[in-house]
Amino acid sequence: MNKADSDRLAGQLEALGLAAAPSADAADLVVINSCSVRQSAEQRVLGKLGYLKGLRKRKPELRVALTGCMVPPDDAELRQRLPFVDYFLPPLQWDALLLAARESLGLPAAPASLACRAGEYETPLPAGRDGVSRYVPIIYGCDNFCTYCIVPFRRGPERSRAVDEVVAEVEAQVGQGAREVTLLGQNVDSYGHDLPEKCDLAALLRQVSAVEGLWRLRFLTSHPKDMNERLVEAVAGLPKVCEHINLPIQAGDDRLLKAMHRSYTTAQYLDLIGRIRARVPGVALSTDLIVGFPGESAEEFQRSYDLLEQVRFDVVHAAMYSPRPGTVAARLTDDVPAETKRERLDRVEHLQEAISLAKHRELVGGETTVLVVGCARGKWEGRTRTDKLVFFTDPGDWRGRLARVTLTRASAWSVQGELLGEAAPPA
Ligand code: SAM
Ligand code: SF4
Repeated sequence: MNKADSDRLAGQLEALGLAAAPSADAADLVVINSCSVRQSAEQRVLGKLGYLKGLRKRKPELRVALTGCMVPPDDAELRQRLPFVDYFLPPLQWDALLLAARESLGLPAAPASLACRAGEYETPLPAGRDGVSRYVPIIYGCDNFCTYCIVPFRRGPERSRAVDEVVAEVEAQVGQGAREVTLLGQNVDSYGHDLPEKCDLAALLRQVSAVEGLWRLRFLTSHPKDMNERLVEAVAGLPKVCEHINLPIQAGDDRLLKAMHRSYTTAQYLDLIGRIRARVPGVALSTDLIVGFPGESAEEFQRSYDLLEQVRFDVVHAAMYSPRPGTVAARLTDDVPAETKRERLDRVEHLQEAISLAKHRELVGGETTVLVVGCARGKWEGRTRTDKLVFFTDPGDWRGRLARVTLTRASAWSVQGELLGEAAPPA
C-alpha cells in the first residue's frame, strides 16, 4: 500500500513539473512515506530523518515532508520532536504539500483536474511511470481493529472506490504498459460494502478482467472472515485472476486469535483453506503470522508452528509482536521476552525456508509461463501466476512479455529457468 501511495504522490508531483532527483543530497524536496506497523519500521524512518536533519543544516533551502502511517491526525507531538520537518501529512492527505509545490512553481492555486479530492487519489498515474506490474488501491482504511494493529487509527474507516473509477484506472494503467494489476486494500475482500451500487470484490474482478490488454489480475490482502464462496469462485473461474491468495492467519491458536480480535477460529481457517484448494487446484497461498503476542505460551506458539507445518504455505510473512501505542494490545503486558520472540521467529523462518525450498524443487523439470517484470544482475526476472520468482538469461528484450521457461534449479527464494520461447497472451 505504501508503495502504491508513494508512486501516486510522485505522479502528482511530476504532473506539476517536478522531477525525481537521483539522491536526497541533490533534491529540493524530500518526501518520506513512513510505515508504523512495527517499532522497527519507525526506527528506520527516524534514521533517515536524522540524516535529513544534518543535510538541512548544510542546505537550508531543502524542504522535508513526512507522510504515511507515522503521522497521526494530531501531529503536535511530532512537530515538537522533528522541528526540521516542514510538512506532516497523514496517509493520502497531501494537499498542503501539493499546494506549496504549486506556489513555489508559480502555478495557479488548484485546477480541478489536479486537486486531491478529499485527500484521496483522483488522477491515474501520469504517463511516463513505467511498470509492467502495478498496484491499484480499491479500498482505503480498515474497520477491523485487530488489537495489535495501528492501521485503522492512521488510515481511518473503510472507503471503497467506485467501480467505474477502478476500471478507468486499470484501463489507464494498461494504456501505459501495465500487464498485471494487483487490486489493493488492507481488507480487500470487504470491497464494496459501503458503495451505493451493489458490488463486491468478485463482481469487481469480473469487470476488471474485461479490460483489454490486461493479462493478469491479483488482489491483496484478504481477511479470512470476509473471504466468501463468490470470491473463491471468481478466482477459480476468471482466467486472468491468478491462483495466488494471501490469507493472513496471524496465530494458530484460538485463544490468541480471540485476543487479537481476528473473529475466526483455526478450524474455520483450515476449512477455508481446504475449500480454496479444492476449488482452485495449484493455488499458491501465503500468510502473515505474529510471534510473541502478549501472553503467548510455548504451547500456543507451537500450535502456530504446527499449523504452518500442516498447511505448507508458499510464503509466510512472520514478524515479532511490537506494541503500538494507542492499540488495545498495547495495554497488555508485552511479556514474551525479546529473545524468546527472536527464537520463535527463527524457528518459523527455518521451517518456512525448508517448505519453500521443497515446493520450488517440485517445480524443477517442469515448464511454466512467467511475466517478465524487469532485469536484475544480468538476468531477466519474471513471476509465475502463482507469484514464484523465476530468473533466466537471454540477450533479447523480454520486459513486459510472457516467457515460456523450463525450470532447472531451485532455492528457497526463487527458481532458475531456461527460455523456451514466447507465450501467447490471454485472449
Ligand atoms: N490487513 C492485513 C491483515 O489483515 O493481515 C495486513 C495489514 S498489516 C499492515 C501487515 C501485517 O503486519 C499484519 O498482517 C501483521 O502480521 C503485521 N502487524 C501488524 N501490527 C503488528 C504489530 N503490532 N506487531 C507485529 N506485527 C504486526
Ligand atoms: Fe490491521 Fe487487522 Fe486491519 Fe489488517 S485487518 S490492517 S491487521 S486491523
